[in-house]
Amino acid sequence: MPDHAARAPQAGASSRIVVIGGGPAGLMAAESARAAGAEVDVYDWLGSVGRKFLIAGKGGLNLTHSEDPAAFVARYGERRAEVGRWLAHFDAAALREWARGLGVETFVGTSGRVFPLDLKAAPLLRGWVKRLRASGVKFHMHQRWVGWNDAGALRFVQDGAEQRVDAERVVLALGGGSWPVLGSDAAWVSLLRARGVALAPLVPSNCGFDVAWSAHFAQRHAGHPVKPVVLECVDAHGHATRRQGEFVVTANGIEGSLVYAFSAQLRDAIAAHGSTQIRLDLVPGRDTRRLTADLARPRGSRSLSEHLRRHAGIEGVKAGLLYEALDRERLQDPALLAATLKSLPLTLLRPRPIEEAVSSAGGVRFDALDEQLMLKSIPGVFCAGEMIDWEAPTGGYLLTACFASGRLAGAAAANWRGGG
Ligand SMILES: Cc1cc2nc3c(=O)[nH]c(=O)nc-3n(C[C@H](O)[C@H](O)[C@H](O)COP(=O)(O)OP(=O)(O)OC[C@H]3O[C@@H](n4cnc5c(N)ncnc54)[C@H](O)[C@@H]3O)c2cc1C
Repeated sequence: MPDHAARAPQAGASSRIVVIGGGPAGLMAAESARAAGAEVDVYDWLGSVGRKFLIAGKGGLNLTHSEDPAAFVARYGERRAEVGRWLAHFDAAALREWARGLGVETFVGTSGRVFPLDLKAAPLLRGWVKRLRASGVKFHMHQRWVGWNDAGALRFVQDGAEQRVDAERVVLALGGGSWPVLGSDAAWVSLLRARGVALAPLVPSNCGFDVAWSAHFAQRHAGHPVKPVVLECVDAHGHATRRQGEFVVTANGIEGSLVYAFSAQLRDAIAAHGSTQIRLDLVPGRDTRRLTADLARPRGSRSLSEHLRRHAGIEGVKAGLLYEALDRERLQDPALLAATLKSLPLTLLRPRPIEEAVSSAGGVRFDALDEQLMLKSIPGVFCAGEMIDWEAPTGGYLLTACFASGRLAGAAAANWRGGG
C-alpha cells in the first residue's frame, strides 16, 4: 500500500506544521509530517502528552485487533468506508510493526486483541516522544489553544498570557468528549462551530447505562460482576443480536465490556424512544425445559435462594437480578422462574454521562472534510483522531483509527501545496 508518510514532500512542504493535541492522533500526525520533511511543533494544554493513552495502559493497552481486515473495518459501522481509507495506509499489521520499531513487541490475546508484551503504555509513549524529539519535533506544553485571531493566527494561552502563532498548516487532534480530565474537554466544539464547520453532537460511546435499581439491590450488589451472561438487544427492525460475556453492576446501572459492545445501538434506541429494554440470559447453555423441570422439584424446607443455587446455579448478584424482576408471588412459579432466568428484561433509562464514557461519538462531520482530512471551510487545517465523527467498540479499534487518521492528516498537511 502506498504510505503518505514515505512520500517525498512536494514544493512548499518544508514549512512549519503546528499540531494541536498530543494524544495518539496528534503524535502520529507529528511523526508523519516530520517524516515528510516538515518542521513540526506540537502544542498541548496539559503538562505532558498522551495522558489518555497512559490511562488506556492501565487496562493493558489494547493497541489493535488481529481479526481479518474485512471484519476489522466492519467495526466502524456506518463509517467503515471512510475509516477504511485511513486503514488502507496504516492498518493493524502496520501498527504492530510500528510498535516493534519502538522496541515494543506485541502479542495476540485469547480474544484476538493485540497488546504490548508488558501490557503497558508508558514505555511505548516514552520511547516514542524521545524519538520524536530526536527527529526535531518541538513540544510546547501548557499551551491552551483558544482559536484564531482576526488575522488568522493561532491563539494560545498560558497562565493568562496569550501568544499568537502563525501557521499555514495545522493539524487539530483535540480528542473527543470523554474523560475531559485527561485533556479532551471538547472546548474546540464552539471554536470550530464559530468557523462554520459542520459538527455532529458529541455523545457517549462505549459507556454504561442507568437502571432504576431498588436501593436494596444497588447497596448489596454494586461492583459485582455478572458472568457468564448473554445480553440480547433487538434493533429497530426487530433483529435480535446476542452476545455472551460479562458486565458489572454499578450503583446506578450497568457497565463493562459486554455493555460497551452494544452501547451505540442502546444509546441510539434510548434517544429515539426514551428508554430501551435488553434481555439477559443468566444461565447460558442451559435448556429452558430442563431448567423448569429442575426448579419444579420439591423444595421441602429449603429457602428459595438455596433451591435456586442448587438447581440453577443462581446466587449472589444473579439471584438479586431475579428478585428485582419478579415479585414474591411470581417467584413461586417454576416455569416463570426458568423463563425469566433465560430472558430477564432490564430497562435502560439513559447512557451514563460522556465524562465517564471510554470514548465519544460525533464530532467533525466527514462531509466537512476532504479525503486528506482537511477542513473544506478552513484550507490548511486538518483533523485527526477521536474528534472526527466515527465510533467503534473497544478492542483496539479506537487507537488504531486514531493512529491511522493522524498518520494521514500529518502527511497530507506536509504535502499540502496551499490554497493558491
Ligand atoms: C479509560 C480509557 C481506556 C481506554 N483504553 C483503550 C484501549 O485499550 N484501546 C483503544 O483502542 N482505545 C482505548 N481508549 C480510547 C483511546 O484512548 C482514545 O480513543 C484516544 O486516546 C483518542 O486519541 P486522540 O489523539 O484523538 O485524543 P486524546 O488522546 O484525547 O488527545 C487529545 C489531546 O488534545 C489536547 N487538547 C484538547 N483540547 C486542547 C486545547 N484547546 N488546547 C491544547 N490542547 C488540547 C488534550 O490535552 C490531549 O492531550 C481508552 C479510553 C479511556 C478513557
